[in-house]
Amino acid sequence: MAGTVLAEVQNLSRYYGSLRAVNDVSFTVHQGEILGFLGPNGAGKTTTMQILSGNLAPSSGRVRIGDHDLLAEPKAAKRALGYLPEQPPLYRDLTVDEYLDYCAALHRIARGRRREAREAAKAKCGLTDTGRRLIGNLSKGYQQRVGIAQAIIHLPPLVILDEPTIGLDPIQIREIRALIRELGKDHAVILSTHILPEVQATCDRVQIISKGNLVLSDTIDGLARHLKSAALLVAFRQTPAIEEIERLPGVRSAAVQEDGRLRVQHDPGLDPTEHIVRVATERNWGLKEIAPERASLEQIFVELTTTEPAAPEPGNA
Ligand code: ATP
Repeated sequence: MAGTVLAEVQNLSRYYGSLRAVNDVSFTVHQGEILGFLGPNGAGKTTTMQILSGNLAPSSGRVRIGDHDLLAEPKAAKRALGYLPEQPPLYRDLTVDEYLDYCAALHRIARGRRREAREAAKAKCGLTDTGRRLIGNLSKGYQQRVGIAQAIIHLPPLVILDEPTIGLDPIQIREIRALIRELGKDHAVILSTHILPEVQATCDRVQIISKGNLVLSDTIDGLARHLKSAALLVAFRQTPAIEEIERLPGVRSAAVQEDGRLRVQHDPGLDPTEHIVRVATERNWGLKEIAPERASLEQIFVELTTTEPAAPEPGNA
């Protein structure tokens, strides 16, 4: 992506005692993109987000936000970013307006412009009618909207959201994801999450972190290629003998799973779906379902973290 670089992370590491929570991580975030920072619990996401937002010092490495080095010029760098931590920093006893006015002051928005900034942030986050409500009385989904509003009230080019949908119900999750996509029109967004479909639904690009190491950086289309395993899941009304399936072109092996479906492994370049459908019809097996198996996030982690590096091409060594 060719937009302006809004954040540049170089060789970032962070130790907690002898535990290396983040290990030599480097990446950039460009204007106009929503970057998914995906990893299982304990992978190092929150540590990275805390460092990027200037709330935690790295053990080594550099972070630039816009034109400013985060360690050398923290105030200037922080003006260019908004941050929603995993635990939103909300005051339950304040109204939405009181709290956002307070946040506007913290972000040094001039007194005469605070109201305008507050109303604009509320409008973007679907909070226009909630100004007088106590934050503690709002639903979790609306509390999260307030958390996002405080992160964007000073119109930062970069917004960092750490697990913003955790603990929300499915409808609230959908709404917050839609809101994040909207934010992506005006801000670059880093979205930290452990939920694979969240990245697929929301982001332009993905980085996967596992045990402190970045193991994948790719577009969402590139991620989809990793998700496609060379296997089909097939269900018949009358399951044929395994050997009949294994004789079909491209099929490497087949096995009945616990749920009764057949898992048919095939050559990566030779999808036997059409053969199976045709033969199933001819032999009256009663095909009920046939679909490519989708790798789970856990399987991708295993694949990415256990695959040997490819041997250098002859002549490129
Ligand atoms: P989660 O989603 O569970 O928060 P995460 O990907 O955000 O996971 P981190 O919170 O960054 O991961 O944690 C990375 C590793 O560092 C974990 O092993 C965690 O136990 C450890 N860790 C995090 N904070 C501290 C701390 N303050 N002191 C010691 N160890 C820590």
